[in-house]
Amino acid sequence: MADSPLAGRAAWLRAELARYDHAYYVLDEPLVPDAEYDRLFRELADLETAHPELSTADSPTRRVGGRPLAQFAPVRHDLPMLSIQTETDTGPSGALNFDARIRRELELAADAAAVDYAAELKFDGLAISLRYEHGVLVRGATRGDGTTGEDVTQNLRTLRQIPLRLTGDAADIPPLLEVRGEVYMRRDDLEKYNAAAAARGEKTLVNPRNAAAGSIRQLDPAIAASRPLCFFAYGLGAVDGWDLPKTHAGILDALAAFGLPVCEHRAVLSGGEALAGFHRRIAELRDSLPFDIDGVVYKVNDLALQRRLGFRSREPRWAVAHKYPPQEALTVVEAIDIQVGRTGALTPVARLQPVFVGGVTVTNATLHNADEVERKGGLCVGDTVIVRRAGDVIPEVLGVVAERRPADAVPFAMPDACPVCGAHTVREEGEAIIRCSGGFSCRAQRTQAILHFAGRRMMDIEGLGERFVERLVEFDYVHGVADLYKLQLDDLLAMKRRADEKDGVTPETAKAGKIPTRWAENLLAGIEASRQPSLARLLFALGIRHVGESTARTLADWLGSIERVRRAPAPLLAVLPDIGTTVAAAIADFFAEERNVAAVDALLAAGVQPADEHAPNPALAERLNWVELYAALGVPKLTPVRARQLAGVADGAALANGTVDAATLSSAGLPGEVIDALLDWLQRPGMRGLLAGVAMRRNELLAALPAAVDLPPTQDSAVTGKTFVLTGTLPTLKRDDARDMILAAGGKVSGSVSKKTDFVVAGEEAGSKLDKAVELGVAVIDEAMLLEMLNTGSNT
Ligand code: NAD
Repeated sequence: MADSPLAGRAAWLRAELARYDHAYYVLDEPLVPDAEYDRLFRELADLETAHPELSTADSPTRRVGGRPLAQFAPVRHDLPMLSIQTETDTGPSGALNFDARIRRELELAADAAAVDYAAELKFDGLAISLRYEHGVLVRGATRGDGTTGEDVTQNLRTLRQIPLRLTGDAADIPPLLEVRGEVYMRRDDLEKYNAAAAARGEKTLVNPRNAAAGSIRQLDPAIAASRPLCFFAYGLGAVDGWDLPKTHAGILDALAAFGLPVCEHRAVLSGGEALAGFHRRIAELRDSLPFDIDGVVYKVNDLALQRRLGFRSREPRWAVAHKYPPQEALTVVEAIDIQVGRTGALTPVARLQPVFVGGVTVTNATLHNADEVERKGGLCVGDTVIVRRAGDVIPEVLGVVAERRPADAVPFAMPDACPVCGAHTVREEGEAIIRCSGGFSCRAQRTQAILHFAGRRMMDIEGLGERFVERLVEFDYVHGVADLYKLQLDDLLAMKRRADEKDGVTPETAKAGKIPTRWAENLLAGIEASRQPSLARLLFALGIRHVGESTARTLADWLGSIERVRRAPAPLLAVLPDIGTTVAAAIADFFAEERNVAAVDALLAAGVQPADEHAPNPALAERLNWVELYAALGVPKLTPVRARQLAGVADGAALANGTVDAATLSSAGLPGEVIDALLDWLQRPGMRGLLAGVAMRRNELLAALPAAVDLPPTQDSAVTGKTFVLTGTLPTLKRDDARDMILAAGGKVSGSVSKKTDFVVAGEEAGSKLDKAVELGVAVIDEAMLLEMLNTGSNT
């Protein structure tokens, strides 16, 4: 027999279940969903019933739960903590079968009165036992293997819902009372916890049950305390010196009176039909409960009858857990698609082998974003995954069954290009979401982009509402915003006809043989009227990420033309007021995408022209100094102070040309590591080009400034072209200010004195630099003289 296929199957099932038990009970990291476990468990139990000779003493069907962890002190339960028989038939017969079995075992005649049952919820958490001596909590333990659990008193003490001292009349409180119940985590608490953990980049908790089990079995009580756990009492362990109530319901009432939380959803019911009704009612409530349940529990209410029924090896005969359809199931990922949302966010979606879970057949599940996929340990097409669908919540992939990964599986990675329009994708620093840079040139974003474009604070196109835009996009009348300006009356009328056909409506006017055109004429007039927006409105209307109304106005005010805005490299934009590096990068990125360039060109070609273009703001001259520009480049270690030193010896064009050597940089006072970082950065692909571009655009902008503006760099002063070294504390100017003023006037500032130094500006407590100046015969001046030089013409 031992070698028969059945014996082999039984042995395999035992080994497999033992492996799942270890992962579930000891490691708190289940390998498979409960439904899968239950299926195998049932198969083994059935096999052992049909062939008792296959049964072994160590079979999972005979034992309770897992082994206690050695890290915790062992607790021997005076009264074993058992499991409950599971009824996996989720229909009414699950309840009727239990009632029939109880009647049979109690040998009740067919016409004997119905049996009373206490019906409760089956909470999905961790079983624990609380020991109260003379009303004081002295110990809390897990179930462990039913006989020996783990001492987790410290962790349980952190649960607010667990009374440290029982309430009520001291005289009523028994000398010894062990309370059994379930620690669980509410769903909203889990979500909150996970959101916070994800934000910190920490591991998230898989589901409420694992969250509860994992938290209570933390060695560090501070961690357990940081996790929001709750508790429900549902039964008793060892008791001494208490005149026990006669029924299970009576016990629960007494526990509630002692100040222990007892779930309100419970009832005493007579007979199997009533139990089936309870099962059905709670099924309807299930999704609205704030915590997870995986079934309901029926217990024979009368304690005397319970004693008559007694126990089997791992469970009482007087109770059953009547399950609900599983909310978690195993399935296989057949493909991973990328969806592009209306705002350009790329969302990976797993296409799944259809699986029945949470009461529906699930065929796909969102994977949220790349970080989420990573947090689940990566994902491959062909992976077996645990899918969860609870209530109305959209199905989600909880995790991967790593051991079932096919050998040739290819790990999933987010694409570099938008699957809808092909534009490159971008991920901003610190953001989890990857976006399509296609903006309104991307079909997925078109409706949204056009609606934004037409909005009241943007191009203000009257009459162009959501329904029209959706139709125009749907029937392909507009691919981009420029197409709006090409629309003809006939197009709009045809669109309306097609929309009516699609909706299956025949307007009264059409029945009367008339075609109303007024609305279309009005819409065309609205579009026409928007041809000459202000530059700020046009920039806002483009829907560039991070560019709101005020940023658009800044760009318009300072740069004055759409041409200059679209050509400006990010560092040039970043020196404008209130535009940070993220915003600057988003703008430059938008105009770096060919499709956006084409869309803007098309818009201009269609006759849209800002009405108020003008020369750049004269104050731009001051902003476009290399100190600021260098600082905006994002070169590692190039702090504002270092940027200033660098600007003193080299402008961007020189740096980009490679005509500046390390010695020159060092003469500016830049430390070796900063020089190394800078030279390193310059070697990176594209960086010299960026720098040269910044230099070129800077010159263009300066040249475009109104002629009347006095440009500090072009107005020569006694300072222009001279090299200064600053030392000591100046009486009124901060050293940085003095440096800025010299730079703005076309002078150079060096960090160390050499023969090339023209002037040393010395303040109080000037040190070795002053000595060096004297030694080399370099002119030494004070602040007053510097200010005078700054204010005088070049030939003084
Ligand atoms: P169980 O969870 O099916 O039932 C017993 C437990 O129910 C008790 O210990 C108690 O914690 C809990 N319970 C909740 N509400 C209760 C109430 N009102 N009254 C009494 N008890 C209540 O049994 P079990 O032995 O803890 O575990 C077996 C189950 O665990 C399996 O059915 C399976 O779903 C799951 N499991 C899953 C895996 C896996 O790998 N996914 C592995 C092992 C076990």
